[in-house]
Amino acid sequence: MMQRRTLLQAAGSLGLWSLAGCAIDSMGTAGARAPAKARVLVVGGGYGGATAAKYVRLFSDQKIDVTLVEPDAAFVSCPISNLVLGGSKSLADITTPYTALARKHGVRVVRDTVASIDPAKKVAVLASGPTIAYDKLILSPGIDLMWDTITGLRAAQAEGRILQAWKAGPETLALRRQLEAMPDGGVYAITIPVAPYRCPPGPYERACQVASYFKATKPRSKVLILDANPDVTSKGPLFKKVWAEQYPGMVEYRGQHNAFAVDARTNTVRFEIQDDIKADVLNVLPAMRAGAIAVQTGLANANARWCNVHFLSFESTAAKDIHVLGDSVQSAPAMPKSGHMANNHGKAAAAAIVAELSGWEINPAPMLTNTCYSFTDARNVIHVASVHEYVAAERTFKAVAGSGGVSPGPTEQEGQYAWNWARTIWADTLL
Ligand SMILES: Cc1cc2nc3c(=O)[nH]c(=O)nc-3n(C[C@H](O)[C@H](O)[C@H](O)COP(=O)(O)OP(=O)(O)OC[C@H]3O[C@@H](n4cnc5c(N)ncnc54)[C@H](O)[C@@H]3O)c2cc1C
Repeated sequence: MMQRRTLLQAAGSLGLWSLAGCAIDSMGTAGARAPAKARVLVVGGGYGGATAAKYVRLFSDQKIDVTLVEPDAAFVSCPISNLVLGGSKSLADITTPYTALARKHGVRVVRDTVASIDPAKKVAVLASGPTIAYDKLILSPGIDLMWDTITGLRAAQAEGRILQAWKAGPETLALRRQLEAMPDGGVYAITIPVAPYRCPPGPYERACQVASYFKATKPRSKVLILDANPDVTSKGPLFKKVWAEQYPGMVEYRGQHNAFAVDARTNTVRFEIQDDIKADVLNVLPAMRAGAIAVQTGLANANARWCNVHFLSFESTAAKDIHVLGDSVQSAPAMPKSGHMANNHGKAAAAAIVAELSGWEINPAPMLTNTCYSFTDARNVIHVASVHEYVAAERTFKAVAGSGGVSPGPTEQEGQYAWNWARTIWADTLL
């Protein structure tokens, strides 16, 4: 068994006292069992899934077999990807291979897609044909874009005309190329769906990044933010101050603009109430829901969009022994759909699963944290932070009163913190 001291050190260095607490307490208790030999299958190697895969191995002292199925060759981070659009970072800067998960932690990484899951038989079928049996399945498939909520969008995106780039990768570069090709004096417009959606401040950070690029190279151009929500959904006063002071006359924000159709021929977006808007580069974000495999498995039992879970263990309320993490989860109050939060879900779920498989008590009082940094240009950053505690009486997480908060304003020092945050969370998730 892993030495108690080693586990304490590992947990302490990552700020995981409350997550690993169950294992630590139990290991100190007479009669506690070593982790059982068991098979955990993780679907999706993003912020939630990769973290959970690594931490099941760590918390079980490598005794539990972990297989991770992920179609992409490497992890490409959405956080920081807006800087690729702004031109100050490259795709290589935000890419990390999966090799350390395999080499250092003994995770079996399978490059494939899970095509279907049979919760009764506890097997998953890979797109390439083989099946994988599991004792516990961890599902962190991220989000799917609901194409049909905006008429014409699916075809416009398939033709490469109207892009989203809401999953970082080749599409991020394609959108960057559209911005580069745009003439000075042109208009970039981003539409935002009604919340909840992946990364509340993400679209507003993107507007800053595009404006930062325009300010340096195409100063007569405009950035239009067309938001279906009544107002900016995250760090509102801070973003509005940045737009007014750093990008006066360039960035324009309009709330309550709910897009329902696009015309790719004329690059026009249509709204429920307001007049149509034509732009040179259209970045249309439709409504989002849990990743397709979660929906297809019948786990999206909140408005047929998100997955309800028991928050102590992240086990689905719809299927036993399937734990759902990250953006796919029907969020607890004030819980953002963020990479930081998905990473925390990954650790909390890993601790609960190892405890369950080992006959230990599940930590009854887990705590989660979140920080979302937003770059207002290539160097200056603002943040929002919060701490979330499990409230047993309500069986959900709630933000701790008075915890967290927002920056007073953008600074280069926070820019350093943000970049260090990114490197630390990539290491914590994948290395
Ligand atoms: C532009 C932008 C900026 C952002 N900035 C920040 C930020 O600064 N800070 C922050 O905390 N968060 C940020 N986010 C949000 C963050 O990216 C997400 O919240 C996070 O990725 C959610 O993690 P996840 O594990 O749920 O999903 P993902 O990280 O998307 O991982 C899902 C994985 O599942 C895989 N998958 C899907 N279906 C299957 C299947 N059937 N079989 C196998 N694999 C499958 C996918 O290939 C993918 O790798 C940002 C997002 C965007 C778009």
